[in-house]
Amino acid sequence: MSRTLILASNNQGKLKEFSALLSSINFDVHAQGEFNVPEAEEPHVTFVENAIAKARHAARLTGKPALADDSGVCVNALGGAPGVYSARYAGEPKSDQRNNEKLIADLSAHVDKSAYYYCVLVFVRHADDPQPVIAEGRWNGEMLAEPRGQGGFGYDAYFWLPEQQKTAAELTAEEKNRLSHRGQALRALIEKLR
Ligand code: IMP
Repeated sequence: MSRTLILASNNQGKLKEFSALLSSINFDVHAQGEFNVPEAEEPHVTFVENAIAKARHAARLTGKPALADDSGVCVNALGGAPGVYSARYAGEPKSDQRNNEKLIADLSAHVDKSAYYYCVLVFVRHADDPQPVIAEGRWNGEMLAEPRGQGGFGYDAYFWLPEQQKTAAELTAEEKNRLSHRGQALRALIEKLR
């Protein structure tokens, strides 16, 4: 028998990715928008606190188990920035293009271009679950000054993978799921939930 799980996001790409893997352990995943849950605030300075806040919010408003993710790109020479502020690095309204322009400008004087994508996933059985299930993933790369590739989103066209000799935007969706911070975190979460 499958169990309903609320995804604390309305991103259709994530819904598809998460549904595919979570159906293998009998979860039927629904976006929070289907239950009229508005987006939660993300006021915290850590990824994990933001993910817990989003998961709790979705569980509280639906009365069902919920899964949230929080992710971003962390650049070593910038002390881990943009980090939790990745989506709005260049301010509101959110813009991938302006975020990338700001990141290239901020990094231009630095020799060390190393960076990593980070993702944390939080599963709560109910809003006040005292033991959330938490899994994380990390994907190392280097920031380029010029974009390459048309796939992905966010910082992908600037995120160079030395082993693949490609940017994240040059990978197929399957390759990206296999390698990415989000794919790693999701597989780790599934192992914990089994
Ligand atoms: P969120 O966790 O979906 O809110 O993502 C936070 C932000 O981090 C996104 O808006 C992107 O700027 C960045 N980000 C997270 N994951 C990725 C990725 O896989 N590719 C490119 N950018 C990403």
